[in-house]
Amino acid sequence: MITSALPYVNNVPHLGNLIGCVLSADVYARFCRQMGYNTLYICGTDEYGTATETKALEEKVTPKELCDKFHFLHKSIYEWFDIDFDYFGRTSTEVHTKITQDIFGKLSQSGYIKKDEVEQFKCPNCLIFLSDRWVVGRCPLKGCGYEEARGDQCDGCGKLMNALELITPACKICKNAPERTKSHHFFLELPAVEAKLRVWLEENTKEWTNNSKSITYAFINDGLKSRCITRDLKWGVKVPSEDPDMANKVFYVWFDAPIGYLSITESFLGDNKWEEWWRDPENVKLYQFMGKDNVTFHAVIFPSTLIGTGEDYTLVNQMSTTEYLNYENKKFSKSQGTGVFGDSARNTNIPSEVWRFYLLSNRPEQSDTDFKWDDFLAKNNNELLANLGNLIHRALQFTAKYYDKKVPKINFDLLSEKDITFLKRTLEIFNDYCEALNNVKIKEGLRIFMELSSLGNSYFQDTEPWVLIKNHPQR
Ligand SMILES: [Zn+2]
Ligand SMILES: [Zn+2]
Repeated sequence: MITSALPYVNNVPHLGNLIGCVLSADVYARFCRQMGYNTLYICGTDEYGTATETKALEEKVTPKELCDKFHFLHKSIYEWFDIDFDYFGRTSTEVHTKITQDIFGKLSQSGYIKKDEVEQFKCPNCLIFLSDRWVVGRCPLKGCGYEEARGDQCDGCGKLMNALELITPACKICKNAPERTKSHHFFLELPAVEAKLRVWLEENTKEWTNNSKSITYAFINDGLKSRCITRDLKWGVKVPSEDPDMANKVFYVWFDAPIGYLSITESFLGDNKWEEWWRDPENVKLYQFMGKDNVTFHAVIFPSTLIGTGEDYTLVNQMSTTEYLNYENKKFSKSQGTGVFGDSARNTNIPSEVWRFYLLSNRPEQSDTDFKWDDFLAKNNNELLANLGNLIHRALQFTAKYYDKKVPKINFDLLSEKDITFLKRTLEIFNDYCEALNNVKIKEGLRIFMELSSLGNSYFQDTEPWVLIKNHPQR
């Protein structure tokens, strides 16, 4: 079973998102299908949360309308890039609510949920609770004092913030001063799950990429804390609770989003068949693809959620994490218009295969890599065209000219020493390719594949079949 990180619904994916998640997972899924493995590749849009609700307010549409628009935009971009999901779903479904509430109920029964009171901002004008990033104000740090610091982070000094610390806080939407209020929330008791989580990690991180492992251990060795999993919002999965303090609460999007993998599987298969994949850790191997910013959620918080239920769920076996793809030495940024986004790639009229080739050959595996137009052009001309394109073109042309467009059968009696060496080497390289892909070494797999293509070109050049056929037309 293969998943790629669920893209958040309210923006357009850029090339870095594509290579980090959906494209890498697509290559692996295609390989698995070709090998005859029973394969399921699932993805979809992550739709709930403050960011969607607030953006809908700004655009004067309902959250549902906003999600519909962006869900189909994402879907069409991935289709254009030829990403072959078994199913591309979404989290705003009834079955998602059902599975999320069910998992919460089990956590609660197992004693891993605690209620606590927290102080937070509410806007008296917009009548909503404000999450940290929807409060702006002056940075409290001496020597910074940046006037437009966000409640979650100051762009002036880069420090992480708590909105309550901001000087002269204001609602980001209407600019009025928010009020301090108290609200009750549910917390997931991560420290209580920690021992079980560590046992699982010790046994299961062997096949993870190094960056997955190092990010995971850095996070847990820093000390796990209880994590607030509810929010005062409307657009989300309703928290099932009889407690009057917990009326009108929904789950924090990072609690329900990974459960989306399970619910999207059910949206696809129906009849509770999601359990055949997600409740069978003995027989299902789970491969998850993501950018490094998603690791702690997939390696710590989501597994803790599932382990905390006390029941058997399929947990990640292989975590394939990429570093970042930058754009001409800068970070991709929608707000600053830096980078190539899915819809603009489509508008260039450069075929999606060419984008796929370049992104895969430049996949940020060990360190960040850079998208550069010059390099894109050079790799297309010198590698994709000169090597693979050339081999395919000359083979097709030769077959058309001498064999009536049909590949003739090999006559093994006529093979020369050189032909046999070539065939043997072909098989060796093919085996190396399969080994690389089985180990999710995608960039290495592409390199080996291009080696196979080079071998084909040299063989064509060395054996000169166009001469051979003139001298021995019966061959
Ligand atoms: Zn600051
Ligand atoms: Zn407001």
